[in-house]
Amino acid sequence: MVIIYICIFFLGASLASFLNATTYRVDNKYKYPDIIKSGSHCENCKHMLTWWELFPILGYIFIKGKCTSCKNKINIYYPISEFVLGSIFLFLYINNIPWYYWIITLLLFVFSYHDIKYKAIPKDMVHIFLGICILFFLFFSLNIQNIYTPLVVSVVLLAMNIVKKSFGMGDILILLGLGILLYYEKYLVMFWIGIILALLYSLIWIAIKKIDMKKAKVPMIPFFTLSFVISVVYGEEIFKFLLKYLSIW
Ligand SMILES: [Zn+2]
Repeated sequence: MVIIYICIFFLGASLASFLNATTYRVDNKYKYPDIIKSGSHCENCKHMLTWWELFPILGYIFIKGKCTSCKNKINIYYPISEFVLGSIFLFLYINNIPWYYWIITLLLFVFSYHDIKYKAIPKDMVHIFLGICILFFLFFSLNIQNIYTPLVVSVVLLAMNIVKKSFGMGDILILLGLGILLYYEKYLVMFWIGIILALLYSLIWIAIKKIDMKKAKVPMIPFFTLSFVISVVYGEEIFKFLLKYLSIW
């Protein structure tokens, strides 16, 4: 059992490593087949990484977070994101979550990378994502009731944007795509947990760095990725718990 868990964890971590490298290469205009064929190297000195330096998470610990050749610091995003995706895979596996939610999580992982790095997500990627969500909806879910709540939320967010620009168009479309895959209870839990996590993050950031959050844009997709995974597994329970708690008042 433990061996299976370790395998699932490192499958997620390795996929994270692969997706990070591929996204980096696509962004830096590598041509096919270099995108998948060329070996990974240090961004600073072009030192080719050996297989053990490339090993998810552990490689980073072995080399103490620095390139073995030029001692350039390696971005902490890489091992952290590998650890997070590995943990998410394990969490989804233990809770018997259907495979199409895993695919959605992988896409959200790539979007998170873009959102953190560029504070934006490429438009065509969002459109493809929405298409995939609609396909999954048609093939697996088919609960027409799923559509109403995300549609209402999208309209509200769009209306809020007219008053004050707070949500990117990419964020709104991604939320819409996620919404049609979730029953409304799970969708609402996902939406609010995502918002609360982002708010907490902003507050901590303001407290530590004392920067003006009005100028700094918070990437939303990483938080919605986490809240999506939580909600896919525990959404109904959280919703029912909150209803019970609120009805006491
Ligand atoms: Zn180097």
